[in-house]
Amino acid sequence: MQLRQKGGGCMEAPYSEKLRHRRREIELTLRHLERERREVEENTEWIDQAAYASRISLLDRLTAWYRDEISRIEKVLGRPNESRYGLCLVCHEPIEADRLDLYPEAELCFDCQEFRDRAEPS
Ligand SMILES: [Zn+2]
Repeated sequence: MQLRQKGGGCMEAPYSEKLRHRRREIELTLRHLERERREVEENTEWIDQAAYASRISLLDRLTAWYRDEISRIEKVLGRPNESRYGLCLVCHEPIEADRLDLYPEAELCFDCQEFRDRAEPS
């Protein structure tokens, strides 16, 4: 599998493949987090209650973060036009690769997104 893409060209398939790969990675991470949380809970030797609480809350935040990412990825994979993944919905140009790395659910290229953000400030 080719993880590193250089330049332009047709990149539709690799992108959704990359997303599936990312989803598998996140699933593993989530399982790992669950296990670690259980271990923290089962460990009764915490001297400092505050340290325990902050550890748990960190694990919870990470879990929520990854769950959110997985649901965004699933939204992309469930799109009827999944084969067009990686192409901007507005200008139909390929979305920047580094942008997709950061926002796998991105539907617009940088320019179009910026234009839209300016048009409808949130
Ligand atoms: Zn665009």
